[in-house]
Amino acid sequence: MTLQAVLDDLSKRPGSGEVIPIINPATEETITEFTDCGPEAVDEAAARAKASFESGAWSQLPGRERAKVLRRIGQLIDEHAEEFAQLDSLNTGMPLMQAQLQMSTVSEFFRYYAGWCTKLNGVAYDVKTDGIASDAYVDMHAYTLKEPYDVVGLIFPWNGPIFNASAKLAPALAAGSSLLVKPAEETPLSAVLLDRLIHEAGVPEGVVNLLTGYGHTAGAAITAHPDVEKAAFTGSTEVGKEIVRASADNLKKVTLELGGKSPVLIFDDADMDKALLMAPLGIFVHSGQGCVCGSRIFAQRGVYDQVVAGISTMANTFKLGAPSEEGCVSGPLISHKQLTRVMGFIDEGKSDGVEVVTGGYRLGRKGYFVHPTVLTNVDTKMRLYQQEIFGPVVTILPFDDEDEGVALANDTTYGLAATAWTQNVGRAHRMLKRLHAGSVQVNCQLVFDHDVPFGGHKQSGWGHEFGKEGIDIYLKTKSAWIQL
Ligand code: NAD
Repeated sequence: MTLQAVLDDLSKRPGSGEVIPIINPATEETITEFTDCGPEAVDEAAARAKASFESGAWSQLPGRERAKVLRRIGQLIDEHAEEFAQLDSLNTGMPLMQAQLQMSTVSEFFRYYAGWCTKLNGVAYDVKTDGIASDAYVDMHAYTLKEPYDVVGLIFPWNGPIFNASAKLAPALAAGSSLLVKPAEETPLSAVLLDRLIHEAGVPEGVVNLLTGYGHTAGAAITAHPDVEKAAFTGSTEVGKEIVRASADNLKKVTLELGGKSPVLIFDDADMDKALLMAPLGIFVHSGQGCVCGSRIFAQRGVYDQVVAGISTMANTFKLGAPSEEGCVSGPLISHKQLTRVMGFIDEGKSDGVEVVTGGYRLGRKGYFVHPTVLTNVDTKMRLYQQEIFGPVVTILPFDDEDEGVALANDTTYGLAATAWTQNVGRAHRMLKRLHAGSVQVNCQLVFDHDVPFGGHKQSGWGHEFGKEGIDIYLKTKSAWIQL
């Protein structure tokens, strides 16, 4: 499917709301426009989804048959990998090579969850209950059934459009649900292609319903809809809370993958070569627009100067550019809105006395590029230290000992990821226990596997994606009893 075909498909989708422009963040040029689908389209999609679920065409298909379709989706994604990479890099500004590298992970989501389709079993219990009218025990056969939620709303952000879409669609389809799918308004392009391939692979009509529009219109209509039994959301903590409030009327089940302000502790016994390579990558890759980016670095006093110098040097060698520019490792911020937000944090810090070791400015060229920025002399009460910036901005603070480092790291309302760099085995294990985050990594950063659950503690989320837990969130447990 060519770019033009994707744009045509998007522009032909019915809509009743505002016209939404899609801007190329590397050039600030308009790629295309489309019409917000509006709440009526959400109503229609919910009715289609409910009817398709009740028809059983997908929900009652034997697991092995759903698995075949999921594997076929994975295969089609592989065949169209280059088109997906082009769409995501055009739409987000991420370097083309980065967009290409993610594609094998994306198709693997469908193969991985294809494997779970035949394993959605409950547990059997051999029970003797107390008799109601006599002292005799009553033999029971009890077991649990795992059943899909009927209509599920999937809502995700712009920072990794095809990755985020696949991470949700693959397990939700494997479970057997019917879906309302809403990509971010800034980045719907790869979702349009995925929607096309999902249908080509054999998912019946009505099961996957793509809705393109704003969060406050289409997204809000999905999360408030009485026929949507479950919502799975990836995005900011702020919107996550709105979704919880909106879901209250029908007590929708909600899972949330939210923001972070992840700490990175570098102890004086760390392998400094590795730490000073990975810690800067862990914040500046994708211009800091990754949920697990390590935006708060803490260096033990003995290596503090070395850490500040090493990270600043890497920040200055990070080549920013448009996806097609040779050798660029990072792209622009997604939008003018995000640029204003990131620069707002930096400017506020400057006027509050923060030291800008490097960066702190927008590049003097077209596109929403911000130079990787290293800040020291930061007060922990500052907004830029406490809130997720979602840009290429890192603060570096010193600490004296393990207790102080852990206390600083944990002093946040977020709990998505945390990292420790140390070669002391005991300390490595202590960090895994003591750091308060859903994903704690020692001597590595940005690690991921389809098999390993991922999710946030504290205000970084509810529930986990990936692995078995990633399909459990789309299944409800029913207890079944038979008196023998
Ligand atoms: P966002 O919360 O503004 O938007 C995310 C999605 O929600 C978009 O599709 C948007 O249209 C929709 N939305 C907005 N308002 C809504 C509403 N009232 N009701 C329903 N839907 C609504 O987030 P963003 O700026 O697009 O993405 C960046 C955020 O996503 C960051 O906070 C980042 O940490 C987070 N994120 C988290 C993970 C994770 O796995 N934990 C992964 C990627 C991104």
